[in-house]
Amino acid sequence: MTKQNPADRLAAIKARVRRACEGCQRDPADVRLLAVGKSQAAPALAALADCGQLSFGENYVDEALGKIEALSGRSLEWHFIGPLQSNKTRPVATHFDWVQSIDRPRIVRRLAAQRPAERPALNVLIQVNLDREPQKAGCDPDQVAELAAEIGQHPQLKLRGLMAIPAPRTDREQQMQAFARLFQLFQALATEQPDIDTLSAGMSDDLEAAIASGSTMIRVGTALFGPRPKASQAD
Ligand SMILES: *Cc1c(COP(=O)(O)O)cnc(C)c1O
Repeated sequence: MTKQNPADRLAAIKARVRRACEGCQRDPADVRLLAVGKSQAAPALAALADCGQLSFGENYVDEALGKIEALSGRSLEWHFIGPLQSNKTRPVATHFDWVQSIDRPRIVRRLAAQRPAERPALNVLIQVNLDREPQKAGCDPDQVAELAAEIGQHPQLKLRGLMAIPAPRTDREQQMQAFARLFQLFQALATEQPDIDTLSAGMSDDLEAAIASGSTMIRVGTALFGPRPKASQAD
């Protein structure tokens, strides 16, 4: 695995997506791939961009800003996917295209107020704490509708859907059950917000189950870049 080059890894992920889609009669074009670059240096991201991968997810604001700067001019799309502290919303509102980790009204209001007027609306996903894990970011499943209504108050933001990181499960059936609960939340939200089009679910180890359960965007780190460097912060 570690001997592979970025082009091979990207091709391997795309092959997994294709196989997963065949298994559930979905069109692979309906599943977007987000490359998660946390703790990887800018040249590693550039190598993937050279292979045509243009959407990147980042978890840490300071680390991300350096890479966004280093890779500006390549027309990459940047998604913030980590826990977001109130005092870090301004650089996120300024430099990112998407924020997938919206989990409380205060963050919504700050991002809306801080989105530069000359930039298009910031695409946002509500992160759901699907398994109600105390240490994990994300709103309670019962709070999704309320948060969506708050987002709807702000033209600087565009609600695109939901994101979740289910508790890790190795059993495929259990993975599917968790993603199925997420898909139900997504469908319930879609009855109120018919414009939503994005369900961000599935990572290196569970993307097949996520795709079988309706994910439209998988977020892949390890399987694209190899193991994260040791010094990285834990997630
Ligand atoms: C790290 C991370 C990923 C990617 O995880 P891998 O297992 O390395 O593919 C996806 N989403 C979020 C929110 C992450 O923090």
